[in-house]
Amino acid sequence: MNSKFDINFARKIDSEDPLNFLRSEFQFPKHLGENSIYFTGHSLGLQHNNYKFYLEQEFKDWRDLGVDGHFDAKTPWLKYHKSLANLSALIVGAKQNEVVTMNGLTVNLHLLLTSFYQPNGKKNKILCEPHLFPSDLYVLRSQIELRGHNPDECLIFLPSDANGVVKDEDIYKTLDVYKDELALVFLGAVNYYTGQVFDVKKITEIAHTNHIMAGFDLAHAAGNIELKLHDWNVDFAAFCSYKYLNSGPGNVSTIFIHSKQIDKAPFRLSGWWGHNEKTRFSLQKKFNAINSAEGWQLSNAPVFGMSVYRASLEVFNKVGMSSLFEKRIKLNKYLEGAIHYFNEQSKQIKLKIITPGDEAERGAQLSLLISHDAKKVFNKLRENGVFIDWRPPNIMRLSAVPLYNNHEDIAKFIQVLIKCT
Ligand SMILES: *Cc1c(COP(=O)(O)O)cnc(C)c1O
Repeated sequence: MNSKFDINFARKIDSEDPLNFLRSEFQFPKHLGENSIYFTGHSLGLQHNNYKFYLEQEFKDWRDLGVDGHFDAKTPWLKYHKSLANLSALIVGAKQNEVVTMNGLTVNLHLLLTSFYQPNGKKNKILCEPHLFPSDLYVLRSQIELRGHNPDECLIFLPSDANGVVKDEDIYKTLDVYKDELALVFLGAVNYYTGQVFDVKKITEIAHTNHIMAGFDLAHAAGNIELKLHDWNVDFAAFCSYKYLNSGPGNVSTIFIHSKQIDKAPFRLSGWWGHNEKTRFSLQKKFNAINSAEGWQLSNAPVFGMSVYRASLEVFNKVGMSSLFEKRIKLNKYLEGAIHYFNEQSKQIKLKIITPGDEAERGAQLSLLISHDAKKVFNKLRENGVFIDWRPPNIMRLSAVPLYNNHEDIAKFIQVLIKCT
């Protein structure tokens, strides 16, 4: 092979990449003694070598201090969540008082919807995307039922093409058609299935013009695309920490509530950790909320999981988001080119990228439709040490993640793909 997608050519590009050194700080699952080709960072990010940095401290403080660790640990557990505020705020463009880390993502979506889905008379509907992640669908449906409405009537799906990709103009048209009936627009900023990035800023603007709240699930967006939640006036959002944020399986989630909304929520499900810290332990009958996103906390902080998340967020902070975005775009273009190259070489199987082509409409992930033998190709790739994932009936999702993937991964992937088809 003699092309742009030759391994030596890829290595040369990587050698000029100032972020290439980061790769060696992550642990890849092995295949035949070598690093696998890992393209599933959108599902579970890889382990960074520093994952134990804070975790070991917390185990030590627990061993040496017992209950006193709440006050005397190196990072007192009583306020452990605060050690994540600045770091997580940087990922999504928030102010420190607008974020707090707690619970799992789905739990947090319920807490946020409880406060910010405020059906009022005819204005009781929620607008969402097609191919909604199952958990989000169950959250929305059950929240609608909880308020005594019918989810089959109150959940409005955006129209899309056969693959689930939505046209921008259709979002604005649908918002206009339903503007008097919508209480909330709730979208994944990046759709998990198609990889499509929605224009969070513009959608929020239009929603607000029509007195509609705007909330976003950032599971596939945080650590992947540029977000300015505060400046864009997003009302609320939440994300998990284990996909692009590499904090380990099932780890904690972070919520965002715009400072303009913090005092306005008519209701929240409350717990002691959201109570004013000065009087938290005096067991007052009346709940007195902390005047920040922290007021939505229920339980005391699970510090072990948080400590791993903290170490991971520090990597992002050190590298800087803008250089990661720059590299993400380069890798994504190269991956796209490599897939076209494969299609030129392949007599039978063709791959169609369903993710929108515009740079602003995609993040690290590409979703591919395989013309035939889809499951067979997928299985063969796995046997050959390629991690991608599979969504029925014939979609493969793969992401080249700027923190740890490189051009060589992509060139190798294409070689394996040619071998497997
Ligand atoms: C990954 C993901 C989830 C996962 O939810 P958990 O509560 O962390 O299990 C939810 N929603 C979306 C859109 C996701 O991508």
